[in-house]
Amino acid sequence: MNKDRTVKFLCYGGKVSAIATITTDLVEYVKNLHGLTPTTTAAFGRFITISGMMGHTEIKEDNDSITIQLNGKGETGPLVSVIRRDEGKIFVKGYISNPLVELPLKENGKLDVGGAVGTNGYLNIIKENEITKQGYNGLVPLVSGEIAEDFASYFATSKQVPTVLALGVLVNKDGVKSSGGYMINLMPDATDEEITKIEEAVSKAPTISEMLADEKSLEEIIKIVTGDENAEIIEDNLIIGYKCDCSKEKFERGIISLGKEEVQEILDEDGCANTKCHFCNKEYFFSREDLQSILDKM
Ligand code: ZN
Repeated sequence: MNKDRTVKFLCYGGKVSAIATITTDLVEYVKNLHGLTPTTTAAFGRFITISGMMGHTEIKEDNDSITIQLNGKGETGPLVSVIRRDEGKIFVKGYISNPLVELPLKENGKLDVGGAVGTNGYLNIIKENEITKQGYNGLVPLVSGEIAEDFASYFATSKQVPTVLALGVLVNKDGVKSSGGYMINLMPDATDEEITKIEEAVSKAPTISEMLADEKSLEEIIKIVTGDENAEIIEDNLIIGYKCDCSKEKFERGIISLGKEEVQEILDEDGCANTKCHFCNKEYFFSREDLQSILDKM
């Protein structure tokens, strides 16, 4: 089986850039972390895969972060990810609000991601620099809830360059068989002939899931979907890892934000508080003494 790997390419002499990734291990990790069903593995696997790719294409500095919320108002509830960069490596964390949703397969035998995520909602992408707090907020309505189409629509509205995006997660009874994706960006100087060549190549290519299941390498995949035999690697072995940066201090700040009355009420009624991080499922216990000392500081 192909190992997780992320590679950036230049095609057609630099007029087209591309990124491709294999995220099988990452998606297996989040499947086990959040106890995902086959349907939510496909949904959240696609979502975390594009989150990781966006980390490598959109985050330019270590203090920049991206928060993504995809809410289709379906049974899964919102999907959320936070993407950070640390010394050039990309770290993602995320959750799907209801990880236990499982729907019957669609007529074509595929997992019903759009049916579970829903289509009547939005994709919200918030970019922020953690030091300057300067940022950008982009909101687009969902297209199909199938994730790739929804992000492609975001790129079409927010970027000046046409983007091709494919995401695929294959799940079998043993777990995640393969997961990955690719994204192609056409620069303004790409010619009509090159654009047509890419459109034809993409439409003739097998799905990303099929190519990954077929053990195709990322180089082979990019050559197939761009139609450029001379596509060259410009960065290899980019990292997409899963890391949560939660701490008891962060949860303490959350408790403080509830306000004095609310904290007093918790203290009077429950005498303690058990909190759990959505992103990594770590639990933080606040004893009576902890809550009292928080109250004393408020
Ligand atoms: Zn956490």
